[in-house]
Amino acid sequence: MAEILVLVDYVDGEVKKVTLELLTLARRLGEAAAVWVGPGYENAKDKLAEYGAAKVYVAADEELTSYVVAPKVELLAQLVAEKSPGAVLVSATGEGKEIAGRLAVRTGSGVLTDVVDVTEGFVGEHSIFGGAIVSHAKVRQGTPIIAVRPNAIATEAAPGTPAEEQVSVALSDAAKAAKVVEKVVQEKGERPDLTEAAIVVSGGRGVGNAENFKIIEDLADSLGAAVGASRAATDAGWYPHQFQVGQTGKTVSPQLYVAVGISGAIQHRAGMQTSKTIVAINKDPEAPIFELVDFGLVGDLFQVAPQLTEEINKRK
Ligand SMILES: Cc1cc2nc3c(=O)[nH]c(=O)nc-3n(C[C@H](O)[C@H](O)[C@H](O)COP(=O)(O)OP(=O)(O)OC[C@H]3O[C@@H](n4cnc5c(N)ncnc54)[C@H](O)[C@@H]3O)c2cc1C
Repeated sequence: MAEILVLVDYVDGEVKKVTLELLTLARRLGEAAAVWVGPGYENAKDKLAEYGAAKVYVAADEELTSYVVAPKVELLAQLVAEKSPGAVLVSATGEGKEIAGRLAVRTGSGVLTDVVDVTEGFVGEHSIFGGAIVSHAKVRQGTPIIAVRPNAIATEAAPGTPAEEQVSVALSDAAKAAKVVEKVVQEKGERPDLTEAAIVVSGGRGVGNAENFKIIEDLADSLGAAVGASRAATDAGWYPHQFQVGQTGKTVSPQLYVAVGISGAIQHRAGMQTSKTIVAINKDPEAPIFELVDFGLVGDLFQVAPQLTEEINKRK
């Protein structure tokens, strides 16, 4: 069975959920082989083993993470040449997509980005036009390089004991062109990460102003949820842009998504419509969001949301 290389995404030594999704997908396509770049593998090895990596290529040299994406590309290109994997999977984040594009050029391969699934024969599935159309595409040349959208694949654990192989690459001068001079850790609040949260509560234009977002935060906190926002709310400066959900924001796929004062524009849906259960609170019974929901609450959010929060807190 061909190896499927999975580039591990991690922050502060903690493996990101998207990598567990990629490992789950890789096991469907062949033998999952994780590629760890940088120091700190020891802290992450249990997680990679738990999600079924049959092998881990460990490139522990700190220099590989001292520059922007090029060293990862050179390492992966070398592995593609030496190991002839069936495909390379990376996360479709900003960095992942850049790596995918550069790696495809390096290896003379085709690239698929933003796929939401990959089926037999490495056929990539895309959800386009805000999720209105599903298209399929296949790489015709070289090794398929595939960037998979976070939250598109349901994770499944498959504990095992991966073989480990230390690998290294002699970096070209070109790979050292852009050095990382500073890393600023984004302050992390008590709430879960938006793209990884099991529950997301989002507020839209109906919330009215920045102060009122406290209502959304309170409801989110009662549920242990992350807070999201529509673009109307972030563009108005009511909530920071990094919390925008949608086509030009984050893609989320939680167990429960609660849309509060959001109309359900196609660009918003594109970022949340794969959520397992969707609840909306909106005062307009004709709001398009109600076409999508499992539970719809027609009412004024300023009455409904605080009552909901109170009731949830009471039942805890
Ligand atoms: C290229 C492009 C990319 C875009 N990308 C994104 C994106 O990534 N994410 C995104 O969200 N949008 C995106 N948009 C914008 C999108 O088209 C919508 O304009 C936006 O989603 C609307 O946000 P909203 O639902 O909060 O506001 P509105 O559409 O104004 O809806 C507000 C809703 O709140 C309800 N409401 C008002 N007051 C109350 C109340 N008191 N109680 C209950 N309900 C109330 C109203 O009935 C209404 O349904 C994009 C647009 C373009 C053109």
